Amino acid sequence: MMNNYHSHTYLCRHAGGKAIDYIKEALKLGFKKYGISEHAPMPNLEALGSVRLLDSEYNKYLHDLEEAINYGKDKIKIYKGLEVEYFNFYHERYDFFLEEMDYLILGQHYIILEDGSYLSTYKLETLEHILIYRDTLLEGLKSGYFNLLCHPDLCFYNIKNPTKEMLEALRPVIKLAKKLDIPLEVNANGLRKALKYGPFKLENAPYPRSVFFKMVKEEDAKVIIQSDSHSLDAIYDWAIIEARKFVKDLGLKEVTDLNMNYKK
Ligand SMILES: [Zn+2]
Ligand SMILES: [Zn+2]
Repeated sequence: MMNNYHSHTYLCRHAGGKAIDYIKEALKLGFKKYGISEHAPMPNLEALGSVRLLDSEYNKYLHDLEEAINYGKDKIKIYKGLEVEYFNFYHERYDFFLEEMDYLILGQHYIILEDGSYLSTYKLETLEHILIYRDTLLEGLKSGYFNLLCHPDLCFYNIKNPTKEMLEALRPVIKLAKKLDIPLEVNANGLRKALKYGPFKLENAPYPRSVFFKMVKEEDAKVIIQSDSHSLDAIYDWAIIEARKFVKDLGLKEVTDLNMNYKK
Protein backbone atom coordinates (compact mmCIF):
# COMPACT_ATOMS: atom_id res chain seq x y z
CA MET A 1 0.00 0.00 0.00
CA MET A 2 1.28 3.46 -0.83
CA ASN A 3 0.58 6.48 1.35
CA ASN A 4 2.52 9.66 1.80
CA TYR A 5 1.88 12.25 4.46
CA HIS A 6 5.13 14.20 4.19
CA SER A 7 4.97 16.50 1.20
CA HIS A 8 5.77 20.13 0.49
CA THR A 9 4.60 22.69 -2.08
CA TYR A 10 5.91 25.86 -3.73
CA LEU A 11 4.61 27.89 -0.79
CA CYS A 12 7.60 26.99 1.40
CA ARG A 13 9.76 28.63 -1.30
CA HIS A 14 12.21 25.72 -1.58
CA ALA A 15 9.92 23.17 -3.28
CA GLY A 16 7.94 23.04 -6.53
CA GLY A 17 4.30 22.31 -7.37
CA LYS A 18 0.95 23.25 -5.89
CA ALA A 19 -1.08 21.00 -3.62
CA ILE A 20 -3.40 20.10 -6.52
CA ASP A 21 -0.41 19.09 -8.68
CA TYR A 22 0.74 16.61 -6.00
CA ILE A 23 -2.76 15.16 -5.82
CA LYS A 24 -2.93 14.75 -9.61
CA GLU A 25 0.42 12.96 -9.54
CA ALA A 26 -0.55 10.82 -6.52
CA LEU A 27 -3.74 9.75 -8.34
CA LYS A 28 -1.71 8.71 -11.39
CA LEU A 29 0.51 6.64 -9.11
CA GLY A 30 -2.50 4.94 -7.50
CA PHE A 31 -2.29 6.48 -4.05
CA LYS A 32 -5.42 6.13 -1.92
CA LYS A 33 -4.38 8.64 0.74
CA TYR A 34 -2.19 11.71 0.56
CA GLY A 35 -1.17 14.29 3.12
CA ILE A 36 0.30 17.72 2.38
CA SER A 37 2.54 18.95 5.20
CA GLU A 38 4.05 22.32 4.36
CA HIS A 39 6.79 23.77 6.61
CA ALA A 40 4.71 25.67 9.16
CA PRO A 41 5.05 29.43 9.51
CA MET A 42 7.21 30.06 12.59
CA PRO A 43 8.16 33.70 13.19
CA ASN A 44 11.17 32.85 15.38
CA LEU A 45 12.70 30.66 12.65
CA GLU A 46 11.79 33.01 9.84
CA ALA A 47 13.78 35.68 11.67
CA LEU A 48 16.81 33.39 11.37
CA GLY A 49 16.35 33.12 7.61
CA SER A 50 14.61 29.72 7.58
CA VAL A 51 12.80 29.45 4.23
CA ARG A 52 9.23 28.27 4.81
CA LEU A 53 5.54 29.09 4.49
CA LEU A 54 4.91 32.67 5.59
CA ASP A 55 2.21 33.66 8.08
CA SER A 56 0.97 36.09 5.43
CA GLU A 57 0.45 33.19 2.98
CA TYR A 58 -1.26 30.83 5.42
CA ASN A 59 -4.68 31.58 3.91
CA LYS A 60 -3.30 30.91 0.44
CA TYR A 61 -2.12 27.51 1.72
CA LEU A 62 -5.62 26.78 3.07
CA HIS A 63 -7.06 27.78 -0.27
CA ASP A 64 -4.62 25.53 -2.16
CA LEU A 65 -5.56 22.62 0.11
CA GLU A 66 -9.29 23.15 -0.48
CA GLU A 67 -8.69 23.30 -4.22
CA ALA A 68 -6.80 19.98 -4.05
CA ILE A 69 -9.50 18.37 -1.87
CA ASN A 70 -12.18 19.45 -4.32
CA TYR A 71 -10.25 17.98 -7.20
CA GLY A 72 -9.57 14.69 -5.42
CA LYS A 73 -13.10 14.27 -4.05
CA ASP A 74 -14.31 10.63 -4.25
CA LYS A 75 -10.95 9.55 -5.69
CA ILE A 76 -8.40 10.02 -2.92
CA LYS A 77 -8.46 10.87 0.78
CA ILE A 78 -6.52 14.08 1.32
CA TYR A 79 -5.20 15.27 4.66
CA LYS A 80 -4.28 18.84 5.53
CA GLY A 81 -1.10 19.09 7.54
CA LEU A 82 1.98 21.02 8.55
CA GLU A 83 5.54 20.03 9.41
CA VAL A 84 6.37 21.83 12.63
CA GLU A 85 9.34 22.38 14.97
CA TYR A 86 8.51 22.02 18.65
CA PHE A 87 9.02 24.96 21.01
CA ASN A 88 7.30 24.94 24.39
CA PHE A 89 6.26 28.61 24.02
CA TYR A 90 4.31 28.00 20.80
CA HIS A 91 1.41 25.86 22.03
CA GLU A 92 -1.12 28.54 21.09
CA ARG A 93 0.26 28.53 17.59
CA TYR A 94 -0.10 24.74 17.34
CA ASP A 95 -3.67 24.96 18.67
CA PHE A 96 -4.37 27.56 16.02
CA PHE A 97 -2.94 25.32 13.27
CA LEU A 98 -5.07 22.41 14.44
CA GLU A 99 -8.25 24.45 14.01
CA GLU A 100 -7.85 23.86 10.27
CA MET A 101 -5.30 21.05 10.00
CA ASP A 102 -5.91 17.32 10.26
CA TYR A 103 -2.43 16.63 11.60
CA LEU A 104 0.96 18.06 12.54
CA ILE A 105 4.24 16.23 12.04
CA LEU A 106 7.32 16.94 14.15
CA GLY A 107 10.40 17.91 12.14
CA GLN A 108 12.93 19.53 14.47
CA HIS A 109 15.17 21.63 12.20
CA TYR A 110 16.40 23.92 15.00
CA ILE A 111 17.27 23.66 18.67
CA ILE A 112 17.66 26.38 21.30
CA LEU A 113 20.97 26.38 23.19
CA GLU A 114 21.36 27.21 26.86
CA ASP A 115 22.25 30.85 26.11
CA GLY A 116 18.98 31.24 24.18
CA SER A 117 20.55 31.21 20.73
CA TYR A 118 19.28 28.97 17.95
CA LEU A 119 21.30 26.28 16.22
CA SER A 120 20.30 24.51 13.02
CA THR A 121 19.94 20.74 13.41
CA TYR A 122 22.10 20.47 10.28
CA LYS A 123 25.01 21.92 12.28
CA LEU A 124 25.07 19.98 15.53
CA GLU A 125 28.54 18.92 16.68
CA THR A 126 28.71 17.91 20.33
CA LEU A 127 27.04 15.50 22.73
CA GLU A 128 25.61 18.56 24.48
CA HIS A 129 23.86 19.58 21.24
CA ILE A 130 22.51 16.06 20.77
CA LEU A 131 21.16 16.07 24.33
CA ILE A 132 19.30 19.35 23.72
CA TYR A 133 17.90 17.93 20.46
CA ARG A 134 16.88 14.76 22.35
CA ASP A 135 15.15 16.70 25.13
CA THR A 136 13.29 18.84 22.59
CA LEU A 137 12.01 15.73 20.80
CA LEU A 138 10.94 14.14 24.10
CA GLU A 139 9.00 17.25 25.06
CA GLY A 140 7.52 17.52 21.57
CA LEU A 141 6.34 13.92 21.50
CA LYS A 142 4.81 14.26 24.97
CA SER A 143 2.98 17.46 24.00
CA GLY A 144 0.43 15.43 22.04
CA TYR A 145 0.47 17.71 18.99
CA PHE A 146 2.19 15.27 16.63
CA ASN A 147 1.42 11.92 15.01
CA LEU A 148 4.77 11.41 13.25
CA LEU A 149 8.40 11.99 14.20
CA CYS A 150 10.17 13.12 11.02
CA HIS A 151 13.81 12.25 10.33
CA PRO A 152 14.62 11.55 14.02
CA ASP A 153 18.32 11.11 13.19
CA LEU A 154 18.65 14.48 11.42
CA CYS A 155 20.84 15.49 14.39
CA PHE A 156 23.70 13.48 12.84
CA TYR A 157 23.60 15.43 9.58
CA ASN A 158 26.87 17.14 10.45
CA ILE A 159 28.35 14.22 12.41
CA LYS A 160 29.81 11.53 10.18
CA ASN A 161 30.50 9.04 12.97
CA PRO A 162 28.32 9.62 16.03
CA THR A 163 29.81 8.25 19.25
CA LYS A 164 28.12 5.48 21.21
CA GLU A 165 27.10 8.10 23.78
CA MET A 166 25.47 10.28 21.11
CA LEU A 167 23.52 7.34 19.73
CA GLU A 168 22.45 6.13 23.15
CA ALA A 169 21.29 9.68 23.96
CA LEU A 170 18.47 9.11 21.46
CA ARG A 171 17.30 5.78 22.85
CA PRO A 172 14.74 7.45 25.18
CA VAL A 173 13.18 9.09 22.10
CA ILE A 174 12.73 5.69 20.49
CA LYS A 175 11.26 4.26 23.69
CA LEU A 176 8.83 7.16 24.07
CA ALA A 177 7.76 7.00 20.41
CA LYS A 178 7.04 3.32 20.91
CA LYS A 179 5.08 3.97 24.10
CA LEU A 180 3.00 6.69 22.42
CA ASP A 181 2.66 4.62 19.24
CA ILE A 182 4.12 7.40 17.08
CA PRO A 183 6.09 6.02 14.12
CA LEU A 184 9.69 7.05 13.46
CA GLU A 185 10.21 8.21 9.92
CA VAL A 186 12.58 6.60 7.42
CA ASN A 187 12.97 9.74 5.33
CA ALA A 188 13.62 9.17 1.62
CA ASN A 189 14.78 12.75 1.13
CA GLY A 190 17.89 12.00 3.19
CA LEU A 191 18.69 9.18 0.77
CA ARG A 192 18.34 11.58 -2.17
CA LYS A 193 21.00 13.77 -0.57
CA ALA A 194 23.56 10.95 -0.96
CA LEU A 195 23.68 11.74 -4.70
CA LYS A 196 25.77 14.82 -3.90
CA TYR A 197 28.71 12.42 -3.64
CA GLY A 198 28.11 10.43 -6.85
CA PRO A 199 26.05 7.30 -7.57
CA PHE A 200 23.87 6.23 -4.65
CA LYS A 201 25.60 4.65 -1.66
CA LEU A 202 23.73 4.27 1.61
CA GLU A 203 26.79 5.33 3.61
CA ASN A 204 26.72 8.72 1.85
CA ALA A 205 23.21 9.49 3.05
CA PRO A 206 23.22 11.98 5.96
CA TYR A 207 19.99 10.26 7.14
CA PRO A 208 18.46 7.74 7.69
CA ARG A 209 21.40 6.13 9.52
CA SER A 210 21.63 2.37 9.97
CA VAL A 211 23.30 2.76 13.38
CA PHE A 212 20.29 4.69 14.64
CA PHE A 213 17.66 2.41 13.13
CA LYS A 214 19.43 -0.64 14.60
CA MET A 215 18.42 0.81 17.97
CA VAL A 216 14.87 1.26 16.66
CA LYS A 217 14.94 -2.44 15.82
CA GLU A 218 16.24 -3.30 19.30
CA GLU A 219 13.40 -1.33 20.87
CA ASP A 220 10.85 -2.87 18.50
CA ALA A 221 9.45 0.61 17.68
CA LYS A 222 7.48 1.27 14.49
CA VAL A 223 8.80 3.04 11.41
CA ILE A 224 7.08 4.60 8.42
CA ILE A 225 8.66 5.35 5.04
CA GLN A 226 7.89 8.86 3.84
CA SER A 227 8.94 10.69 0.71
CA ASP A 228 9.36 14.22 2.15
CA SER A 229 8.74 15.24 -1.45
CA HIS A 230 9.82 18.72 -2.48
CA SER A 231 9.03 18.05 -6.17
CA LEU A 232 6.40 16.09 -8.09
CA ASP A 233 8.88 13.48 -9.31
CA ALA A 234 9.83 12.60 -5.72
CA ILE A 235 6.41 11.28 -4.62
CA TYR A 236 7.39 7.78 -5.61
CA ASP A 237 10.97 7.49 -6.88
CA TRP A 238 14.13 5.37 -6.55
CA ALA A 239 14.69 6.76 -3.04
CA ILE A 240 11.43 5.16 -1.85
CA ILE A 241 12.65 1.83 -3.27
CA GLU A 242 15.95 2.30 -1.41
CA ALA A 243 14.05 3.17 1.77
CA ARG A 244 12.06 -0.07 1.39
CA LYS A 245 15.34 -1.97 1.11
CA PHE A 246 16.68 -0.17 4.19
CA VAL A 247 13.62 -1.17 6.24
CA LYS A 248 13.72 -4.76 5.00
CA ASP A 249 17.47 -5.22 5.52
CA LEU A 250 17.24 -4.00 9.12
CA GLY A 251 14.07 -6.02 9.77
CA LEU A 252 12.17 -2.97 10.98
CA LYS A 253 8.51 -3.05 11.91
CA GLU A 254 6.81 -0.91 9.29
CA VAL A 255 3.44 0.82 9.27
CA THR A 256 1.99 2.70 6.29
CA ASP A 257 -0.71 4.74 8.01
CA LEU A 258 -0.67 7.63 10.45
CA ASN A 259 -3.12 7.94 13.31
CA MET A 260 -5.34 10.87 12.32
CA ASN A 261 -7.45 10.67 15.50
CA TYR A 262 -4.71 11.65 17.90
CA LYS A 263 -5.79 15.27 18.49
CA LYS A 264 -6.37 16.27 22.09
ZN1 LIG B 1 11.80 21.39 3.07
ZN1 LIG C 1 9.66 17.89 5.24
